[in-house]
Amino acid sequence: MIQKIKGTMDILPDETPLWRYIEGIMREEAENYGYGEIRTPTFENTELFVRGVGDTTDVVQKEMYTFVDREEDRSISLRPEGTASVARAIIENGKYSDPMPLKYYYIISCFRHEKPQAGRSREFYQFGTEMFGSHSPASDATAIALANSVLQRLGLTNVTLHINSIGCKECRPRYRDALISYFSGRRDKLCDTCKTRLDKNPLRLLDCKNPDCAEGASAAPRTVDHLCDCCQKNFEMLKSALTAMGIDYVVDPSIVRGLDYYTGTVFEFIAEGIGAQSTVCGGGRYDGLVSSIGGPELAGIGFGMGITRLILAMRAMGVDKVAEKKPRLYVASMGDRATVTALEIVERLRRGGVFAECDVVGRSLKAQMKYANKISAEYTLIIGESEIESGKAQLRNMATGEQTEVTLSSFEI
Ligand code: ATP
Ligand code: MG
Repeated sequence: MIQKIKGTMDILPDETPLWRYIEGIMREEAENYGYGEIRTPTFENTELFVRGVGDTTDVVQKEMYTFVDREEDRSISLRPEGTASVARAIIENGKYSDPMPLKYYYIISCFRHEKPQAGRSREFYQFGTEMFGSHSPASDATAIALANSVLQRLGLTNVTLHINSIGCKECRPRYRDALISYFSGRRDKLCDTCKTRLDKNPLRLLDCKNPDCAEGASAAPRTVDHLCDCCQKNFEMLKSALTAMGIDYVVDPSIVRGLDYYTGTVFEFIAEGIGAQSTVCGGGRYDGLVSSIGGPELAGIGFGMGITRLILAMRAMGVDKVAEKKPRLYVASMGDRATVTALEIVERLRRGGVFAECDVVGRSLKAQMKYANKISAEYTLIIGESEIESGKAQLRNMATGEQTEVTLSSFEI
């Protein structure tokens, strides 16, 4: 038998109502915060991600699904994340001349060749938002408030907001020097990837998963101790805004985020009780991104929220049940003529927006009634030759057992 690719998933009809409920809340909240939906292609020129995500990141170095396009002989990649594509779309569609800020959201699947485990798959689903055109911490606070609001509405009180600032192009060089001198002293303990990162992008060393590197990272100099006045001031304003908005947070210097384009504010919402892959939402400011892929200088702040991890967190809280949709009516039939009449009835009701079912597999009457019970139909109607003759039948309320005579051609329910 041909099986699905490792790290991908089938989401079956008994699970999709929960997915749709979550996605519905995401859409509603995003739109209340003034974000409009954007849809971009599933694959892009590889160069976009190399420049937009960063050639020193694990995502680009190890995890992208990259292949050569048949005729054009060019390299294309399945999107490993959403931000670079949105930035490209803004430039390509000239949106940067619209009034600022630009606020976009999307619900997409992304592709990364990672080791599959609980909360980590190779095709994963993400709710993402991007806001372009503001340097103000007020925009950071808005993005964080939107993520928080989605998590609160989903009932996730087991999630904590961690914030940090990783500095801008003013203060990053000083911090970079501090990191280089710290890690140079322990160079022989670094993994091979980190040895090359030390020269190219030392910030990456802080989120290496190798245990020796991670141990070194825990005592490394902290960005918050190296911020310039401007970054310091912005970080303070963000904290005041979050407090004023009633959003709890902890300052966590270990949050640096995995992608190259982050500057200033970075944040993660981390869930309790869902195992090692506990970051349900990660985001931050990426003021250098749009210019790095050939656009104008345009500040940005956004986040990505992983839907599978949200579901794990909801399960841990026992808030992952959504009401099942039950048929209002099940029409049982005996014989071909009755089945045609049953089809006619359910079609009339369905056109009026009613969830109605009838037998389509030719079961015995007894088996049909058993099935009606199994799908929890509210009402049933049994049609045989005599009902067709009289044009009338008994409508049965399954909860009370009460029966009412109805006219087949016109009854409403
Ligand atoms: P992590 O280090 O937890 O893998 P990341 O920094 O690589 O996260 P981002 O690129 O910021 O993640 O993606 C945003 C969110 O998307 C993450 O917080 C997580 O909820 C989800 N996510 C990322 N990679 C995966 C994956 N392979 N499988 C499932 N969800 C994922
Ligand atoms: Mg990752």
